[in-house]
Amino acid sequence: MRADRTSERKGLRLVRRRPRAVREVERSDAEWKDQLNVDQYRVLRRKTTERPFTGVYVHPGRAGLYRCPGCGAPLFSADAQFDSGTGWPSFSDIVPESIELHRDLRAGIPRTETVCRRCGGHLGHLFRDGPGPDRSRYCINSCALTLDEDDSDASGLGPRS
Ligand SMILES: [Zn+2]
Repeated sequence: MRADRTSERKGLRLVRRRPRAVREVERSDAEWKDQLNVDQYRVLRRKTTERPFTGVYVHPGRAGLYRCPGCGAPLFSADAQFDSGTGWPSFSDIVPESIELHRDLRAGIPRTETVCRRCGGHLGHLFRDGPGPDRSRYCINSCALTLDEDDSDASGLGPRS
């Protein structure tokens, strides 16, 4: 396997899997199960993908900041969301320093996995067919996001049931 492709655009680096990554937020599997709802747990901790067009954040048009349901880290500005037609929330940019990239070969083809840097939660993948100048499309599971609305009640802050 080639190990020389370690840099990505926008200052993101492809992170090689470490024997045991130490995260700012670490919990046991039981604690994650306790904290997250079933869908969030499957995606964030088991790296599954939700079915397209099933998430509440599939389509853009909101204001605020999308955070990680696992640790609360800010990940994407709602301003960076666009409608990709894929059935998953799609973003052209990230909150700086929020996301790690990992090589993902599980589907049989190389993909770039996006992971919350703070807690290691699986978010989705990065593709290069977006509308922006660097063509980034962060394809993110809706249930791996929690919208923190700027100016309303905190209904978006807790885990959804
Ligand atoms: Zn997180």
